[in-house]
Amino acid sequence: MSMIVSQESFRTLVRTLSHTPEPDAADAWPTRQLTLLADAGGYRWNIPREFGGAGTDTCEILDVYRELAAGSLLTAFILTQRNAACQRIELSANGAAKSRLLPALCSGELFATVGISHLTTSRQHLGSPAVTAVPDPHSNGYRLHGSVPWATGANAADLLVTGGTLADGRQLLAAVPTSRNGVRIHAPVALMGLSSSQTSIVELENVVVGPDEILHGPIAHVMSSSTGAGTGSLGTSAVAIGTAEGTLRRFRSEVDRRPELAEFVEPLENEALNLTRMLRKSAASGDQAVVQAAEELRRRANSLVLRSAQAWLAATKGAGFIAGHPAERAVRESMFFLVWSCPQQVLAGNLRELSCGVH
Ligand SMILES: Cc1cc2nc3c(=O)[nH]c(=O)nc-3n(C[C@H](O)[C@H](O)[C@H](O)COP(=O)(O)OP(=O)(O)OC[C@H]3O[C@@H](n4cnc5c(N)ncnc54)[C@H](O)[C@@H]3O)c2cc1C
Repeated sequence: MSMIVSQESFRTLVRTLSHTPEPDAADAWPTRQLTLLADAGGYRWNIPREFGGAGTDTCEILDVYRELAAGSLLTAFILTQRNAACQRIELSANGAAKSRLLPALCSGELFATVGISHLTTSRQHLGSPAVTAVPDPHSNGYRLHGSVPWATGANAADLLVTGGTLADGRQLLAAVPTSRNGVRIHAPVALMGLSSSQTSIVELENVVVGPDEILHGPIAHVMSSSTGAGTGSLGTSAVAIGTAEGTLRRFRSEVDRRPELAEFVEPLENEALNLTRMLRKSAASGDQAVVQAAEELRRRANSLVLRSAQAWLAATKGAGFIAGHPAERAVRESMFFLVWSCPQQVLAGNLRELSCGVH
C-alpha cells in the first residue's frame, strides 16, 4: 500500500468524502469536497519536491485515484483533470513556465484544468482542426483560435492547458490564463452525471500566448510525444476501478441485510481485486508504455464499473430507480467511463461487449 493511502489523514478524507452530499447540477461546484482535498494536501501530491510538492510516484498516485474515486468519483475526476494540466507543465522543457506555475499550483493559489481532447479523442472526424495556432510576430508566440470542446472545471480554473494546430500540421500545447483577452468560457453543460464538474466548451478568439506560456511543440502529434499520460492511461483505469469499488462497498452493505445477494457481489469484488493487482503490476513494470496492456485494463475496468452499478441497482429494485437513490446515481455516473478519455480500441471493446455480451 502506498504512503499516502496508508496515512490516517487520507483515510479520513476518503471516509468524509463518501459521507459528504455532492452537488449534482451544472450550476454547483463541489467547493466543500475540494476544500477537504486541499486540506489533506491533495494539490501537492503530484508536484515534484523541488517545486514544493510531495513528489508522489506513479504507483502511489494510482492508489490515490482509486481510493479517492471509491469515496467520491466527482472529486477524483476533477483532480485527474487538474493533475493532467500540472503534468504537462512539469514535463515541459520551458523552465520559466515551470518555476512560475508549479509552486502556485501546489499551494492552491492557482487552479488549472486541461482542454486537449480535440487533439486526441474528440472532433477527429472533422476535416479541420478545432483550434488553430498561427505565429504572432508581436509576442514571438502564437495566436490560438477555435473551440475547445471539453474542459472540466473551466469556470473555476485560472489556467487552461490546451493546444492548437499550425497550418503545417504541427501542434503545440500552452498554459493559457483564463483571464486572457479572447478566452470565453461557456456555461457548464448539464450532463447525464457529474454535472457539477462544471464541464464547458471554451472559445478561444485569437488568444495570444507568449513564448513563456508554450509548454510543448510545435511538433507533430504533440499528444503522443513525451507530454504525459494520454487517453486511456492507467490513471483513468484507476478511477474506474475505484468507482466500482465504492459501488461494491455500498452494495455490500445491502448484502449485510440480505445475505442471498452475496453470490452476486462476491464475483464483482474479486474482479475488482484482480484488476487492482493488474493495475499495480502494470504501473510497477512500466507497462504503462505498452499501450495495448493499458487499453485492455481500461476496457475491463469500464466493464466492471458498469456491471457493478447495474447489479447494485437490480438488487435495490424499484427503490433504487427513484431519482436521488445512490444506486440510480451510480448507474448514471458509471456511464461516464464509456465516453471519457476512451481511445478507439477501448471504445470498440466496450461496444463489442455490449453488442455480443462477451467481456
Ligand atoms: C463529463 C466529461 C468531462 C470531460 N472533461 C474533459 C476535460 O476536462 N478535458 C478534456 O480534454 N476532455 C474532456 N472530456 C472529453 C473526453 O475525454 C472525450 O474526448 C469526449 O467524451 C469525446 O466525445 P465527443 O462527443 O467530443 O467525440 P466526437 O468524436 O467529437 O463525437 C461527437 C459527435 O460527432 C459524431 N461523430 C463522431 N465520429 C464521427 C465520424 N467518424 N463520422 C461522422 N460523425 C461522427 C457523433 O455523432 C458524435 O456523437 C470530457 C468528457 C466528458 C463526457
